[in-house]
Amino acid sequence: MARAWHLRSRPSGTPTSDNFELKEIGLPELEEGMVRVRNLWLSVDPYMRGRMNDVKSYVAPFQIDAPLEGGAIGEVVESKAEAFAPGDLVQHMAGWRDEAVIDARTAQKLPNLGARPEQFLGVLGVTGITAYFGLLDAARAKQGDVVFVSAAAGAVGSVVVQVAKAKGLTVIGSAGGAEKCELVRSLGADGVIDYKAGPVLKGLAEAAPDGIDVYFDNVGGDHLDAAFAIARNNARFAICGMIEGYNQREPMAFRFIQRIIAARIALKGFIVFDYFPRMAEFYAEMAPWLADGTVKSRETVVEGLENTPDAFLGLFSGANTGKMLVRL
Ligand code: NDP
Repeated sequence: MARAWHLRSRPSGTPTSDNFELKEIGLPELEEGMVRVRNLWLSVDPYMRGRMNDVKSYVAPFQIDAPLEGGAIGEVVESKAEAFAPGDLVQHMAGWRDEAVIDARTAQKLPNLGARPEQFLGVLGVTGITAYFGLLDAARAKQGDVVFVSAAAGAVGSVVVQVAKAKGLTVIGSAGGAEKCELVRSLGADGVIDYKAGPVLKGLAEAAPDGIDVYFDNVGGDHLDAAFAIARNNARFAICGMIEGYNQREPMAFRFIQRIIAARIALKGFIVFDYFPRMAEFYAEMAPWLADGTVKSRETVVEGLENTPDAFLGLFSGANTGKMLVRL
């Protein structure tokens, strides 16, 4: 029998392990055009928290008592689809479980880029695409810019720091705690802010005395407000995520939001899907960076399907550096 994590109940505020239940599931017969996949790696991501609420968004909410979904890397163990053979490594969305029977059209073979399979859930996957296009397209970062990025020791943030440095920009990253700040600096950041040690605005004013041109927002709240406060004229903000608000019931408040007007700040929200048609462009730059060490891939690995909810919950307490993954 396969096993899959189900949503037992919708979290109110911060989720707990009681919201999840691991259950055995029967898999359907393999029909024409389908593949059976044994999962090797699962991705847990902050956006999944939004899918646990019963609200309409850019992806449908998870259903109570139904298996959860998410990015996964697996090995094809049986195939009735022409393009796939046993042994193929594929990426697909039937995560949070150990085995799945899926429509082969929803699986992609991993491209041959000389990378480790799990990197396609991180720096060569959604994480990397989000960082790369968020910085270079949504925020239109360019030569001479001072870039500020929050959650800079996390999956997306740590790639933003490195892409910014690869492009010759000045970059300031914020993270929670001295150890994480040290990591951000080791990735090449010119300045770091430990947001747990003092107000973000104070840290940012010290790290960027002449202001910032770009803010890559992963957090929202005080980070975004500090960026409003200190933005230079015509600054560009890529609004990628607002993890500080995902478990909060109170709306975020912004003291400095009116600076959008005087400083002519441009805010651009984006969803990574918007950039999927530009994968070739992304691989062409990111794969060589990875191969020559310009960009380093970093993962926090939690072992075992049983620990998937813990890995997910750890995202909200800062348990990860780099991409949070579960290895089966
Ligand atoms: P991360 O690896 O960054 O994991 C989350 C990190 O966020 C934690 O390690 C923690 O780091 C930090 N964090 C958690 N809670 C808070 C808080 N209350 N205040 C400040 N920091 C907090 O996850 P990802 O890189 O996968 O995602 C980063 C952001 O990007 C998220 O907001 C996510 O939703 C968004 N995203 C958006 C996409 C899009 O298409 N728009 C695609 C992918 C991600 P620390 O210890 O430093 O606090």
